Amino acid sequence: MSDVRNVIIIGSGPAGYTAALYTARASLKPLVFEGAVTAGGALMNTTEVENFPGFRDGIMGPDLMDNMRAQAERFGAELIPDDVVTVDLSGEIKTVTDTAGTVHRAKAVIVTTGSQHRKLGLPNEDALSGRGVSWCATCDGFFFKDQDIAVVGGGDTAMEEATFLSRFAKSVTIVHRRDSLRASKAMQERAFADPKISFAWNSEVAEIHGEQKLSGLTLRNTKTGETSALPVTGLFIAVGHDPRTELFKGQLDLDAEGYLKVESPSTRTNIPGVFGAGDVVDHTYRQAITAAGTGCSAALDAERFLAALT
Ligand code: FAD
Repeated sequence: MSDVRNVIIIGSGPAGYTAALYTARASLKPLVFEGAVTAGGALMNTTEVENFPGFRDGIMGPDLMDNMRAQAERFGAELIPDDVVTVDLSGEIKTVTDTAGTVHRAKAVIVTTGSQHRKLGLPNEDALSGRGVSWCATCDGFFFKDQDIAVVGGGDTAMEEATFLSRFAKSVTIVHRRDSLRASKAMQERAFADPKISFAWNSEVAEIHGEQKLSGLTLRNTKTGETSALPVTGLFIAVGHDPRTELFKGQLDLDAEGYLKVESPSTRTNIPGVFGAGDVVDHTYRQAITAAGTGCSAALDAERFLAALT
């Protein structure tokens, strides 16, 4: 059993690297699968992060993730920039298979695979991410003081983002494909009552304009096909998230939206020795600091689980 690891961590965002740091400092020699193309997680796709404590002047997302990675490595975490393609979590020894077909074995597994925000699928959307296009009002709202902003979506998240953004913005236009909202009554009423918020009903974003920064949108009416210009410098896309839990279906308990279920306030899943942390579990807060916090909790839970085995 010499090839059996103490712990394998799947995912390398703030949750995964924090779990790696803590398990490495506990001498558990964690093996971390960072992902093949998205090592470092969601913050690799953003510019300035101003709300991660400890960086008075803010820090660029990729720099923050490089620091977390290096800190975990310094204490002996072994990092592999590859995807996990299958897992078998059923036995006492869990197996994790990489893209080359190599099987890795461990007594504990920490799942930190994050969630993917849904995109509109338009040209320019990725290029202008962090340059006017955002998926997180809490993260980026502050950058849009006195600006005209559009929010796309008709659910609770879109209403929450819009009412939050109206604190900073000159105006907020909610762009929604239909003529009524999916959001709860209370959230709708808050948005309707906000003098800075207006609605572009039966509308979708057809084009995103801008070279270095977002300069405006073209909207298309979903009924008539007519197009119109919306001159905004901020676009917040709130059309949902998909947790990355495909790998674990049929093994780990998921909620109705596909997020990993844990025995809160712990990070324990339904399988002993398997823990979940970060945005793959959390559809409420979705912040780097909360992901890092639960990554720490998962490491401590795994440490206690392993200690009880001996
Ligand atoms: P993620 O960061 O999503 O990381 C998941 C990891 O899992 C990735 O490394 C991926 O490669 C890996 N993975 C997935 N599947 C596999 C697999 N099969 N095998 C191996 N690896 C796998 N939050 C803030 O607090 N402040 C901000 O300013 C801020 N700005 C943001 C800007 C943008 C554009 C976005 C998208 C998000 C922003 N957030 C911000 C939110 C923050 O990035 C997330 O809350 C946080 O990254 C979640 O961390 P996580 O570790 O749970 O998941």
